[in-house]
Amino acid sequence: MAKIFCVANQKGGVGKTTTTVNLAAGLAKLNQRVLLVDLDPQGNATMGAGINKAGLQASTYEVMLGNSDVVTARQRSEAGRFDVLPANRELAGAEVEMVQLDNRERRLKDALAAVDKEYDFVLIDCPPALSMLTLNGLCAAHGVIIPMQCEYYALEGLSDLVNTIKKVHANLNQDLKIIGLLRVMFDPRMTLSQQVSAQLEQHFGDKVFKTIIPRNVRLAEAPSYGMPGVTFDPASKGAQAYIAFGAEMVKRIKKM
Ligand code: ADP
Ligand code: MG
Repeated sequence: MAKIFCVANQKGGVGKTTTTVNLAAGLAKLNQRVLLVDLDPQGNATMGAGINKAGLQASTYEVMLGNSDVVTARQRSEAGRFDVLPANRELAGAEVEMVQLDNRERRLKDALAAVDKEYDFVLIDCPPALSMLTLNGLCAAHGVIIPMQCEYYALEGLSDLVNTIKKVHANLNQDLKIIGLLRVMFDPRMTLSQQVSAQLEQHFGDKVFKTIIPRNVRLAEAPSYGMPGVTFDPASKGAQAYIAFGAEMVKRIKKM
């Protein structure tokens, strides 16, 4: 049975996609079977895994509307050695079209049931909004990974996300937990980063992952080569951090 995780934060540009793609590649390096679900109409995770988002035969969009299934729509990321349920801008339409469908928060959960035995991890890259798409991700998942930059405004908006997760837990998905806050784009030379990081540990205790992802230019360059940073430059500090994070996640799921 696959463990399913959403990478979510309603802010844009906080490292959700970088985390999803590189955690997927890091877990694959640790011989885990991984499916990455691109739930963002921007399709950045799809491109970052080396799959062309233009002209997809089937995508997350068709799967969520029930016009295709995961087995048909998934593709292999050779660059990352994991499978991808790809997305592009068509997915933005699903938001509106799903309104008329039954069970509209559970479309993704139901679709993923078909491949549950084929993977150890399913990682869902959420869009930067607390939308119906994100709600589908939260309903499908066992846990949420929240990437955060250690900056002054980091905590702003976190309570909205936490409240949404609590509501989903209470009403729609009792399995859902916050697995942890992941410190990303970390710059150890900045005193503020250190201070915010220490504050996060104080407030959230073991809900803060031990692994810290540094700011590393190789992670930012890799998508333009259609590769995860983890396979683009495995020796880089960013790649090493995401592989360590993969190992931390493997340990965590043993306790779930
Ligand atoms: P989101 O999916 O939350 O919008 P992204 O993962 O796309 O965020 O990251 C936003 C930008 O920051 C991208 O240009 C990405 O390459 C860059 N980035 C993310 N993480 C790192 C990192 N650890 N080091 C350097 N650049 C990063
Ligand atoms: Mg993104």
